[in-house]
Amino acid sequence: MRSIQTSLAFPLSSVKPLEGLRQYRDFCLGATRRVQQTAVRHRARCAACESPLEALGDVEGLDYLRCPTCSSTVLAGLPASDEWARLLAEVSRHRHSPQAFHASIVNSRIENVYAPKLEWIHSSLRLHGVRQPRLMEVATLPSEFSPLLVKSGNFEDVLTVDEMVLAHDAGAAGIPSEAQGRRNGRDDRVRVAVLLESLDRVDDPAALLRAVAGRLSEGGLIFITALVWSGFDMAVLGLRSLYLYPPDRTNCFSLQGLEMLCDQAGFTLAEVSTPGVLDVEIVQAHVQDDPSLPLSVFERRLLEADGETKEAFQSFLQEQRMSSFARVVGRKR
Ligand SMILES: [Zn+2]
Repeated sequence: MRSIQTSLAFPLSSVKPLEGLRQYRDFCLGATRRVQQTAVRHRARCAACESPLEALGDVEGLDYLRCPTCSSTVLAGLPASDEWARLLAEVSRHRHSPQAFHASIVNSRIENVYAPKLEWIHSSLRLHGVRQPRLMEVATLPSEFSPLLVKSGNFEDVLTVDEMVLAHDAGAAGIPSEAQGRRNGRDDRVRVAVLLESLDRVDDPAALLRAVAGRLSEGGLIFITALVWSGFDMAVLGLRSLYLYPPDRTNCFSLQGLEMLCDQAGFTLAEVSTPGVLDVEIVQAHVQDDPSLPLSVFERRLLEADGETKEAFQSFLQEQRMSSFARVVGRKR
């Protein structure tokens, strides 16, 4: 199994600025509170390892649970899946509105967030000897990534499939991406599936992975990105992390939990990496935002260190798979 580091560097402000995040985060929290007023079921077992979940605490009144075995963290209460699908669609539309912080940094997000993901997929496909495959992007529409996948010209076809429909309806048909404008043929199966933070959002991540496995041809590849609870900034900040909020972070698996989830859905792992570049900067931004944040002596010393020391520490996090940005490639068994 491969683990990849990156030499890429960009500031937090160019991809997910803490200041800009607040309005969007409040919108997400408010929308989640509204759907939680409907009939809510409480999650009992970890999706990754099936251990009984334990109380952890709350994010602005919304309870989170932790798994004592694999250290994953999940939102405690979920409404019916159609309510959840509506919520995901609502926040996705909001993300694309001029009010959301994403609008002002579209170009730097393409450059720093999406272009490296496209390059990752291309280089992995080369490594596995896969050329011009049919690709299924699993997301809640609208997706910022679809047009880039189509424009790359590296795929025979790009289908964008709604993640909640796929998770809850095994017979879901692919929705051909509009830019591609082609009809889905009779054979629904694809060689490649891409899930950018889908497992963080959906109410049933195990069902989604099983459904993706069902749509992949033999030996097909799955590309997953996720924010992981085992990563440095999440480990330091825990529930105080402003990047932890539903529905975008309904599930925050540990790297180990993510690996178990993929294994159970029938995937052999070809790559497990945490090429994150922002862990230290994220902790720093939180401390600037709230100087009373409790930190250990070690953590304070790290934040006071020079740039070279912080860079070396961030490289160490990547090498040891201890950053909070995770990337997984799996091959269908
Ligand atoms: Zn677990």
